[in-house]
Amino acid sequence: MTHVITALCTRKGDCVEVCPVECIVPAPTGNADWPFYYIDPDTCIDCGACIPVCPPEAIFTEDDVPAQYQDDIAKNKEYFTSGPGYWKYDLEKERVR
Ligand code: SF4
Ligand code: SF4
Repeated sequence: MTHVITALCTRKGDCVEVCPVECIVPAPTGNADWPFYYIDPDTCIDCGACIPVCPPEAIFTEDDVPAQYQDDIAKNKEYFTSGPGYWKYDLEKERVR
């Protein structure tokens, strides 16, 4: 299983700071195809640390993703397989305060 960031994400970046395996990545600001932060499902260890720190409650376990956000399960994976994926970013520049 994995955890999934949904379209509820407001790019606050708190999740990145608590993930012990650094598998949460902000898509570059301004990329219309990839507007949010994404979780690499192949690296996520399902620790759950990201869920309580997300202000808009945008993160769910894969099994708990609400019906209207089901497409985001594939979107998180695709970000790492066909999207920008991991990159050298400055979190302060990629977060919305
Ligand atoms: S904490 Fe929530 S709103 Fe902030 S970047 Fe992570 S998923 Fe998005
Ligand atoms: S569940 Fe844990 S490992 Fe997975 S993205 Fe959240 S903080 Fe990272």
